[in-house]
Amino acid sequence: MIILKSKEEIQMMRDAGRIAAIARAVGGEHCKEGVTTAQIDAVIRKTIKSLGATPSFLNLYGFPASACISVNEEVIHGIPSDRVLKNGDIVKIDVGALYKGYHGDCAATFAVGEISREAEQLIEVTRQSFFKGLQAAECEGARLGDIGNAIQTYVESFGYSVVRDFVGHGIGKKVHEDPEVPNYGRAGRGIRLCSGMTLAVEPMINAGVYSVHTLSNEWTVVTDDGKLSSHFENTFALTDNGAVILTDPS
Ligand code: MG
Repeated sequence: MIILKSKEEIQMMRDAGRIAAIARAVGGEHCKEGVTTAQIDAVIRKTIKSLGATPSFLNLYGFPASACISVNEEVIHGIPSDRVLKNGDIVKIDVGALYKGYHGDCAATFAVGEISREAEQLIEVTRQSFFKGLQAAECEGARLGDIGNAIQTYVESFGYSVVRDFVGHGIGKKVHEDPEVPNYGRAGRGIRLCSGMTLAVEPMINAGVYSVHTLSNEWTVVTDDGKLSSHFENTFALTDNGAVILTDPS
């Protein structure tokens, strides 16, 4: 069941989203050579708590940290650890914040030092693909499939592939609400989008094949071919005046 939000609720989700976005940015600033992913997680946790919120992901389905931090061929759900970042790594930080009963969820991919041209382009195309999805969502009469279709069409034009096994989602009082929002699909298909929907759209884009698998730690998802993966996510609300990004740090 899709839970539509009132203007007041969207305002509250803006606060949660702002905190998540600030934590994402602070985490990104710490993506430097020699830093461990556990250190980044600690900084993110501290940031969220200092802003009066709770990390959404800590203990969610048993996840042991505040942020998912995934490096290079790791797609999502990387567990922060003693892994030391090195020059040329790309780091995906996915973070959620719970504030006054509502969640905000966002992710981005950050470069450590100097990265390859290929990695740079993958990150930028992934980021842009989110905005293609957002633009499709705010079109008059848009349907759910339009979001995924816009993302997929864009990234495949660069020869990249869209992860199928994991998708975006509705969000509100729970991190994961209906509907599921695939980053692939057919235009004009699926439910009709409407004002009051709050969605976390999160393209996970692979440089090679789209297939992925989960490591024996039962969390970390990696690309089957070991090639790079990139991730970008924002929570947004559909309103009578178009889409509004809620995970906005300003
Ligand atoms: Mg999400």
